[in-house]
Amino acid sequence: MISNAVKEELRKIAGKDNFFDEIEERICYSYDGTTFKSKPDIVLKPANAQEVSHVLKVANREKIPVVPRGAGTGLSGGSVPIEGGIVLAMNRMKKILSIDEENLVAFVEPGVINEEFQKEVERRGLFYPPDPASQKMCTLGGNIAECAGGPHCLKYGVTRDYVLGLEAVLADGSIINTGGQVMKNVSGYDLTRLLIGSEGTLGVVTKIVLKLLPLPEDRRTILAAFSTMERAAETVSAIIASRLIPATLEFMDGVTVKVVEEFLKIGLPTTADALLLIEVDGKKEAVEIDYEKIMKICKDKGAVELKGARTSGERENLWKARRAVSAALGRICPLKLNEDVVVPRSKLPLLITKVKEICTEFGIKSANYGHAGDGNIHVNILIESRADDEMKKVEPALEKLYKEVVNLGGTISGEHGIGFLKSKYLALGAGVESVNVMRKIKDALDPNNILNPGKIFAVNPSSLSGEEKINSPRPSLTKRGDNSLSKGARKRVRGKE
Ligand SMILES: Cc1cc2nc3c(=O)[nH]c(=O)nc-3n(C[C@H](O)[C@H](O)[C@H](O)COP(=O)(O)OP(=O)(O)OC[C@H]3O[C@@H](n4cnc5c(N)ncnc54)[C@H](O)[C@@H]3O)c2cc1C
Repeated sequence: MISNAVKEELRKIAGKDNFFDEIEERICYSYDGTTFKSKPDIVLKPANAQEVSHVLKVANREKIPVVPRGAGTGLSGGSVPIEGGIVLAMNRMKKILSIDEENLVAFVEPGVINEEFQKEVERRGLFYPPDPASQKMCTLGGNIAECAGGPHCLKYGVTRDYVLGLEAVLADGSIINTGGQVMKNVSGYDLTRLLIGSEGTLGVVTKIVLKLLPLPEDRRTILAAFSTMERAAETVSAIIASRLIPATLEFMDGVTVKVVEEFLKIGLPTTADALLLIEVDGKKEAVEIDYEKIMKICKDKGAVELKGARTSGERENLWKARRAVSAALGRICPLKLNEDVVVPRSKLPLLITKVKEICTEFGIKSANYGHAGDGNIHVNILIESRADDEMKKVEPALEKLYKEVVNLGGTISGEHGIGFLKSKYLALGAGVESVNVMRKIKDALDPNNILNPGKIFAVNPSSLSGEEKINSPRPSLTKRGDNSLSKGARKRVRGKE
């Protein structure tokens, strides 16, 4: 409970038009892309770093949870306020402050939408590669907090490879500047990278300095269809093994292709068991050579259909299909659980086999797609409800998947982050010793644990009542050891049934 006096203090900081405690607003900020829900007590929309700092000083004094929020497209429950408290909606801070074309550097606020930024730099012949499929909605602040990836990250790297510096507000309200605007910087610890991927648990990002590249001269896109998923996966490994790094190398299985085609009706080959969407970019002559080499590898590996997009319209259609995947699957299965496991690229065929085996063993259905070139596959578990019966099958299946992935030398999350959904598996992905160091860092920077509590690190358990179990999310269902959410958090989070 936040007292009326504290509410009044917070209202004064953000201004009455940017302070909300009505139920309608609280519901709007209660969920993210996972559809798990928990209402905040207050929503605040700060205008600048000073306001964020004042809010955090009050929250730290009163020990009120603060959850930074971008567009709420996250897929690990990161911006769901599972302990209630304050949601800091960063969308008012949405200015592209400047683009320095001489140094290929941009200064932006965290609420800028990824696609709007990309379009703005492309108008100037520049390129910002990180392109999550949610780019029409997600914010650069959210991208930094999750270290978002996207199709172009195969050749160009993920968000962290483009962040030169940050301004961030820490839990005690202090404003720090990390890194800078230069290409090299080893003055002390790399606090920029510490904040990137920290999921709003270490600080609130209020300004970002980004590195830009020149826009590639030419691009060619290929659609290759295969009769089995294994053949497609082998083709991915063969392309990488032949020392070719395309700009993108995306994968969709047969279930996904059918669902997307039903949604968009753009003539995707629905009889195929798997599709690869491959793009090469760079200097015109180099693009032509790589394009021919990749076409040959696809043919040699038994592609049943091969299509090159010649016009920008054709290319756009293919990308439309890829970007629509999550929405199209969401139409047929709103409660799907979207995993983002990663394995070494050469192990992709093995991962595909394991996923099939696990689905058969536990009697569940999945649709699989993703950034195959990175070994990063979105295994989407298609579930009808999040009630106990269904989740009893899903939970052990996911645990088995995570273990298989780690055995293959991979990790449990490549880009969606840990949030609260995967918190009990953190040690499996990162190792116990590393998790201990992470906890020490969190304790040092946020001793009162006000910044996004319950995320990344699992909270100690308590016993559950039957009713709580029925509607509760994954971490509480198995009641395993010391890795569940707290009882209070469980009560708040409700899956959409
Ligand atoms: C259809 C769809 C497709 C997607 N495709 C991809 C993909 O291809 N690649 C990928 O990586 N992800 C993808 N995602 C996941 C999601 O879009 C990304 O994680 C994205 O970076 C989240 O941005 P957001 O602005 O929505 O952040 P939110 O969901 O609002 O927040 C995400 C996390 O960031 C924190 N946060 C937000 N803003 C700040 C800030 N200013 N300071 C500190 N912490 C902050 C929040 O507390 C939370 O922990 C997809 C999601 C959807 C729904």
